[in-house]
Amino acid sequence: MWHQVAVVLPNANDSAGLVEQTLEILKETHFPEKMSIVIFDENGDVVDSKGSIPLDENGVIDLISLGKGITGRVAKTGLLERHDDVRKVPGYAAINPDTRSEICVPIKLGEQVWGVINVESDRYGAFDARDERILTTVANQMGVALKRLRAEQAQQERVAEIDRSNKLIHALTQVATKMEMSSDPNAVMRQLGAALDERNWKVLVALFEQGSQDLMIRYTSIDPKIVRKVERFGKVSMQDFRIPLEDLPDFLNIKEHLHPIILDDYIVMIARLLDGFTPEIMHRIFNGTLDIDRMMLGHFPLLYREKILGFLWLWGEDLRQDDLPTLSVFANQVAATLENTHLFADVQRLAITDGLTQLYTRRHFFELAYEEFYRARRYGRALSLIMLDLDHFKRVNDTYGHAAGDMVLEKTAATCRESLRTNDIIGRYGGEEIVILLVETDRDAAQQVARRICKKIRELVVSTPKGDIRITISGGVTGDNVEDMNLIEMIEAADKALYLAKAKGRDRVEVSVSSPMIVEQDK
Ligand code: GH3
Ligand code: MG
Ligand code: MG
Repeated sequence: MWHQVAVVLPNANDSAGLVEQTLEILKETHFPEKMSIVIFDENGDVVDSKGSIPLDENGVIDLISLGKGITGRVAKTGLLERHDDVRKVPGYAAINPDTRSEICVPIKLGEQVWGVINVESDRYGAFDARDERILTTVANQMGVALKRLRAEQAQQERVAEIDRSNKLIHALTQVATKMEMSSDPNAVMRQLGAALDERNWKVLVALFEQGSQDLMIRYTSIDPKIVRKVERFGKVSMQDFRIPLEDLPDFLNIKEHLHPIILDDYIVMIARLLDGFTPEIMHRIFNGTLDIDRMMLGHFPLLYREKILGFLWLWGEDLRQDDLPTLSVFANQVAATLENTHLFADVQRLAITDGLTQLYTRRHFFELAYEEFYRARRYGRALSLIMLDLDHFKRVNDTYGHAAGDMVLEKTAATCRESLRTNDIIGRYGGEEIVILLVETDRDAAQQVARRICKKIRELVVSTPKGDIRITISGGVTGDNVEDMNLIEMIEAADKALYLAKAKGRDRVEVSVSSPMIVEQDK
């Protein structure tokens, strides 16, 4: 028998197996009569039981938790009891009326009682000191084995937990990387929704409206059909739906309650946010699409450096409280990405626009101009180019100072830009030189534009701290000839016409007719 016990105990995979096999061995070798083994957890709740002690209707042996009877008492005190005649034992719970003698041994490790082994007999005084020794030895071994099993189980649970958490982090990192840098918050949220969809998670993002305490729903990946139903019931379109901050329940108030939470019973709360909605209506709307009763809702304030942008709601069946730390990091990432859209738009704008004049930089002008140039060639469309240069601008700087010169340049650039259609491309070519590409515009029309600009600049008065400044500008125009010239040659041609305008006394526009250049006079 010892051999068998010694083999079984270290090899059992779980406590049920341990109990069953130990029971079998003991029955075969020593105690063929009534025997039970009961194992409980640290709360005294029975986790495994096998043998002759009957279970109640809940499948639980209440003797143990109540500390009743011999078994219950041993479970409580952790002290072995052996009785020759149970009828003489005070408080004996006669579960089995035929029982005369009984031995009950605690399964312990240290002070902790993990269970009991209980053997009964219909005979008087059926158990002796030898039985006590056998059972105590087996109980001790079971204690050791149980400790090992519980440690293993806890370890497995931890590993599963870490594994799940890692998978979640991995998935969310992928989502976060998919929300590429973009200057468009809507694009970011669409990417977010699509990436979370792959995990069967739905999302809703509400952001503060600029300069207001009202939250507006900016995005949701919830089925558009459901959204339409909600809109019909609520008689308001999702885009116009406002949630005043004070309408959010206290625990969701993102101004005071900055911590994320996971809610399982949120239907009532949502119904309260929506006028005229009841949980019943909510269930009807979602019926057959999302199992909202099984879905958990994660509520996350979207925080970026102390700034509250709004909140994010995440629905998923597999959301758990344990995921909160990971999900909060993720929500912060979403907030940062959303906030960065502004930053990104700024950076983009800075890269392509000149800081002083707000015109395109020379480089970006060429990028856009090449596209237009080849398009014009391909479709045989007219294209014209104007080069402008402020007249005697050095004098302005010399007379009024560089700062005043800057103001003149800024106003001149603005005046030029205002004279153009949105499709035209205007850039700062050099210091006080401006280049304009006019799409679908022939040379004559371009000349008109240049003359109009020339006139407007002539009439422009720039007020500066150093006094009102007036200036003039000269222009060179070329165009209509995308077949004969490339873009660089067009610029050169316009430049030559500009040079001629300067030579002829400035404040005028000259046109380069074709290459080699025949220049028409204009004023
Ligand atoms: P012209 O009529 O022949 O063009 O005479 P100009 O004095 O304008 O001569 P030019 O075009 O050769 O000189 C341009 C001057 O514009 C030189 C430079 O000091 C000034 N300038 C260029 N960029 C800036 C700028 O960003 N701010 C200011 N204040 N001045 C600039
Ligand atoms: Mg100049
Ligand atoms: Mg110049």
